[in-house]
Amino acid sequence: MATKQFQCELSWSASRAKEFERCRRENWYGRYASWGWWTEKPHGEKYDIMVHKCLTSLPAYAGDCMHRAIERWFQLRKEGTAMTAKELYEEAVDLFREGWRESASDGWKARPNKSTHLLEHHYEVPIPKERTEAARALLERCANYFMTAPELAPVRDAHPDNWRSLETMDTYQYLGTKIYAVPDFAYSEGDRVHIWDWKTGKPRDADIFQLHTYALYACEKWSVDPENIVLYAAYLGEEQIQPIPVDLDRLSHAQDEMSSSLREMMDVHYDPDVDDLIMENWPASPEEEKCGWCRFRALCPDAAK
Ligand code: SF4
Repeated sequence: MATKQFQCELSWSASRAKEFERCRRENWYGRYASWGWWTEKPHGEKYDIMVHKCLTSLPAYAGDCMHRAIERWFQLRKEGTAMTAKELYEEAVDLFREGWRESASDGWKARPNKSTHLLEHHYEVPIPKERTEAARALLERCANYFMTAPELAPVRDAHPDNWRSLETMDTYQYLGTKIYAVPDFAYSEGDRVHIWDWKTGKPRDADIFQLHTYALYACEKWSVDPENIVLYAAYLGEEQIQPIPVDLDRLSHAQDEMSSSLREMMDVHYDPDVDDLIMENWPASPEEEKCGWCRFRALCPDAAK
């Protein structure tokens, strides 16, 4: 029987687009430079790049723990078990502690691509107590707000039969390319579909674009009319909800933006197994602030110092 050959395929998501825009070199490290690390014996450069690719920052990791705790809340709700705000908070804290231990010890080394490895630990950035306390307080605030905010009652009360999506990694095809869209939660109410995205950081313009890409997903996958979609950016840490009604103009603008980002990526995409690397396609755009938080700064010869 023929073995399935992995191929380095182009795929698009709002976060990949952001990375591509931020610094093409970073995008190259993240998407191409470690390709085939699993074939490298003994481990070498590609493996090392993969280790850097898997780094995550403390705030991003706290956000991920909150997302997973909320997902657990939904799973229990479906099984008919209630979780209190305190239990939701404790679930997030337990996940956080587990990842912290893995990262601070050598625990991540056994399976770096499946483990938690914080950028701060890797680069030996001091983590003052205030930062861990801020992360703890964020988890507590998010859990309390999720469980008690009246604006979130429709989410908490939505019947599982009406749930459309729950942190499911899903894709659709657009311009012959796989598009990743992961709405955190979506439910229907008659003809209407409500799409929610949990945010643990501060509001950013890019969030609105990302939510519109989820609306495009809903149109494509669930054949929903755009005017029947409502998007919500739920800033749990800031204790505010931003509802975003979808209109055709805004949606078509988001689609144009997505198309042009995708075409730019298509222009430089290559398969590292068969194509030559053209490094000029992946220029570095060093800036102190950007490079300071870049996972690849130890590898990148152009990193701003
Ligand atoms: S260190 Fe700076 S220039 Fe290098 S890849 Fe990262 S963001 Fe780009």
